[in-house]
Amino acid sequence: SPCRFFSKHCRGFAPQNISGYESPSLYKELPEHFNFASDVLDKWSQMEKNGERASSIPALWWVGDQGNEVRWGFEELGFLSRKAANVLSDACGLKKGDRVIVMLPRIPEWWSITVGCIRTGIIYIPATTQLTANDIFYRLQASKAKCIITNDTLAPAVDSVVSKCQFLKIRLMVSEGRRDGWLDFKELLKAAPGDHDPVKTKSQEAMTIYFTSGTTGYPKMVEHSHSSFGIGMTSTGRFWLDLNPSDILWGLSDPGWVKFVYGSFFSPWIQGACVFTYSMLQFEATTVLNCLSRFPITSFCGTPTVYRMLVQHDLTSYKFKSLKHCLSGGEPLNPEVMEKWKSKTGMDIYEGYGQTETVLILSVCKGMKIKPGAMGKVSPSYDVIDENANILPPGEEGDIAIRIKPTRPFCLFSHYVDEPEKTAASERGDFYITGDRGIMDEDGYFWFVGRADDIILSSGYRIGPFEVENALMEHPAVAEAAVVSSPDPIRGEVVKAFVILSPDFASPDPEKLTKELQEHVKKVTAPYKYPRKVEFVQQLPKTISGKIRRKDLRNKEWGRT
Ligand code: ATP
Ligand code: MG
Repeated sequence: SPCRFFSKHCRGFAPQNISGYESPSLYKELPEHFNFASDVLDKWSQMEKNGERASSIPALWWVGDQGNEVRWGFEELGFLSRKAANVLSDACGLKKGDRVIVMLPRIPEWWSITVGCIRTGIIYIPATTQLTANDIFYRLQASKAKCIITNDTLAPAVDSVVSKCQFLKIRLMVSEGRRDGWLDFKELLKAAPGDHDPVKTKSQEAMTIYFTSGTTGYPKMVEHSHSSFGIGMTSTGRFWLDLNPSDILWGLSDPGWVKFVYGSFFSPWIQGACVFTYSMLQFEATTVLNCLSRFPITSFCGTPTVYRMLVQHDLTSYKFKSLKHCLSGGEPLNPEVMEKWKSKTGMDIYEGYGQTETVLILSVCKGMKIKPGAMGKVSPSYDVIDENANILPPGEEGDIAIRIKPTRPFCLFSHYVDEPEKTAASERGDFYITGDRGIMDEDGYFWFVGRADDIILSSGYRIGPFEVENALMEHPAVAEAAVVSSPDPIRGEVVKAFVILSPDFASPDPEKLTKELQEHVKKVTAPYKYPRKVEFVQQLPKTISGKIRRKDLRNKEWGRT
């Protein structure tokens, strides 16, 4: 099976191998050439043909909001992506190494085009469809993309900036209609031949550039090689997602974010599992719950925000017949939400932690003990270090960092594109610094403290926002909370909480509730962490991918712009 082929390359990243693991020789073991399309997808396609993978389970199962469906096996995916590869290289004249922005919603063409890019060695750059003309302009200029692929809804926004984009040469539209200045993908696809000689790509050559979420500043461009996701995601698919070829995984994330590669692209397909997707323009909790009951989805991967919204519904009226594995990543998951999900569905949530720059760094895998609030265990090449790049003992807070010397793990990003200073600043000593602070316990589980910038320093205490937010979430009145520092004449800074109240909580007396919440936090966590200031709000500032932007709240508090 294609996944057996990878096992030796991923040895160090499998959770079973934590003890007794010797310094990574992973690099040396990498094949010189690697291509996800020809080395993984085409192998599954062959197995499908040979009857070694059940053809009744599609590789891609797409459901439209009108109930219309598209189901592709690996063979069909292969055929269509070879055609797409021909469109890109012949009709568009693109070559290996050219950069292409793919700004499409969750439509089947997202996958055929992206796999087509990989076949040709064209570097694909995903972008979310929620971008404005300004965001698109920033991405086109920063990436120097030669081509943009989008739909009729977004084409006008591209056209409004195109005259200022000196690098952009080709616009390709995936829609029913036509538009001046744009090539028509569907027409070209019909005419394109179905055979294509895959371009040889080196394991270490650039395959993709992802923009980070932009939680702490402008999104950064993160370059990954062919092997980074194509091989490095193996342990994610096998151990964290726990997938095999009969599983159907629904990863609820936008194709513009790296989480999509975990839940809807590399990890499931390395395992030969089915990628399920529902074309939902806007998140709707009832739609998600209906889908989980209606379709034989076995595995569900969401973000904490998604679970926070789902648990506010009456889950007992739904029956998830096939669902057996639930996962969360992208942000810290509050134990309270985990408990509510479990009490209403009987299922645990398995947490994972990673970054656009990495593959999965920490995770709770099936069979491991779940410690609510902990992100799980680490692969052996990752350590917690202190300010002087020393490895810390359990129980001490430090930077979560990845060892990069003497050998940089192949599944770590190559660099921030065109930003050597930023790349250099992300390294200290022998380590890549994630920018997140954590504590490892005696059992090797990591606990998230907060992003380094979000840590609050009050009267000499260091306070991580996550713990305070969790304490607040345990109170029935609180639906969501964000905690940041706020100026204080005596203490320098104090803890301030922004709180969204639960919908079923009657309109409160704010002063009384503030006192109540403060007393509650003092009871469930160390009293010095309690929020001295509380503000009730209707919503919290978030990134397009749904992460809380604590930086915006902090800037407001400190009168910065
Ligand atoms: P930017 O780098 O542009 O500010 P970002 O860091 O949010 O944005 P991503 O790469 O999408 O961009 O997110 C990675 C970050 O998300 C991690 O560094 C961490 O702060 C957070 N994160 C991801 N998973 C978890 C988790 N399970 N628990 C806590 N935090 C998590
Ligand atoms: Mg980041």
